[in-house]
Amino acid sequence: MASKAKPSKAPTALFHGNSPFLDSVNAYFDKAANTLDLPKGLLDQIRVCNSVYYMQFPVRIKGGIQVVQAWRAEHSHHKLPTKGGIRYALSVDQEEVQALAALMTYKCAVVDVPFGGAKGGIRIDPKHYTAEELERITRRYTVELIKKNFIGPSVDVPAPDYGTGPREMAWIADTYQAFAKDEINSLACVTGKPVGQGGVRGRTAATGRGLYFAVREAVNDARLMKKMKMTTGLSDKRVIVQGFGNVGYHAAKFLSEAGASVIGIIEWDGAVVNPKGIDIEALNTHRLKKGSITGFAGGKTIKDGKGVLEYDCEILVPAALESQITKSNASRIKAKIIAEGANGPITSEAEPILLKKGILIMPDMFVNAGGVVVSYFEWLKNISHVRFGRMDKRFEEGTNTRMVETVERLTGKSLTVVERNMVARGADEEDLVNSGLEDTMISSYHTVIEQYFGNPKVKDMRTAAFVSSIEKIAQSYLSLGIFP
Ligand code: NAD
Repeated sequence: MASKAKPSKAPTALFHGNSPFLDSVNAYFDKAANTLDLPKGLLDQIRVCNSVYYMQFPVRIKGGIQVVQAWRAEHSHHKLPTKGGIRYALSVDQEEVQALAALMTYKCAVVDVPFGGAKGGIRIDPKHYTAEELERITRRYTVELIKKNFIGPSVDVPAPDYGTGPREMAWIADTYQAFAKDEINSLACVTGKPVGQGGVRGRTAATGRGLYFAVREAVNDARLMKKMKMTTGLSDKRVIVQGFGNVGYHAAKFLSEAGASVIGIIEWDGAVVNPKGIDIEALNTHRLKKGSITGFAGGKTIKDGKGVLEYDCEILVPAALESQITKSNASRIKAKIIAEGANGPITSEAEPILLKKGILIMPDMFVNAGGVVVSYFEWLKNISHVRFGRMDKRFEEGTNTRMVETVERLTGKSLTVVERNMVARGADEEDLVNSGLEDTMISSYHTVIEQYFGNPKVKDMRTAAFVSSIEKIAQSYLSLGIFP
């Protein structure tokens, strides 16, 4: 950690009226809404942000007091609790938090996670604070959320996002528990916690793994690949990933393990490229040792990292921040598929340029939904107070073993110990979480692709995902009896 704390930017107006990210999310919504025959008032209700809490609080930092600005937006209460990550970045403002909260609503609907959307953010650069200072900021933020009823297992459940991880989630859970001693489900107030603090195995890798499942389905879809004039399968696909954090690292890891060749990784301080493919684990080890991916011996370092977005490849995975592909670089993008690991990496002005070039955009609200899917599993685990697999793993193993023994007796042949263990093994928590995630991503892919190919008003995959999502949210409001 750097030793010097930098004050956050001076407070700015809450609404700048000029937010490409929020404008993009709303433009995508409107494009899909225009294809639907739903009452205007209902569409307005789905689109607006239900509530936003803006706070400023003092925190003791290096002997002085710093006033910290933070937000929590709950976009939609059509299902409760609301759900969405907490971001620590200097870019955080009200529009960004609202845009991200809206995306969470649409994302949850598209993957059938029964939550409304929310998002939180603190305007700090976490690199400039010690762990102790970050803990103070996080705990104070949590207290603010408690005071205004913006957190709770049945109210609003945060999770990690850009700049936060399991450590921050553990601080949030601990602070909430201190204030809610009689709440038996208190651990379900936040997800993405360390496993020892009520987390679920598989959550950290979930977003990257989910992205891999989604991309795998797309490249194995013969109808889609024929339309794209591409071959099926991952083995001949070259991949470039922007951002080597939680989402980017895991996406790169799973795609390369499945046979794709990751030829470029882009970070804020430069990129590493290697046309023969980058060894992802070796690059991660280098980054952990040196604090940067640059200078990695297994590839060439490129100073202008962002320029690598424009390199020739089949699959581009922007997994860092929003608004990375804009109208100024869109025409130079050469990838055939863009899988949005980050939220909002393509602006609505850039999208038509990319679509005109025949690029398939796999939208954030579907492709990076793995995190919220597994967060849902963590929340279920917390409110049911039992680890997945605890009740049935040994029973399943016993049944499988008896089956193997019966087959061996009837055939007179025996399995090796390795084969027997493989066949008889019962599912543990991580197996079940990964299986639930895989099933969700596959079935959501098929829902979205059916809209894409089957609805004549839908011309791109993002609109297909939005249509599917808006229809589900509308149905939820209609069945509440709110709209005639
Ligand atoms: P992270 O903080 O773990 O990683 C982000 C990475 O991007 C870091 O390595 C950072 O150095 C790098 N980066 C920052 N600026 C960059 C730039 N200009 N160019 C290239 N790299 C840059 O964050 P994360 O959790 O991986 O989130 C990344 C994106 O994915 C965000 O948009 C987030 O909202 C989205 N997302 C995250 C999750 C999740 O489960 N973590 C789920 C869904 C969506």
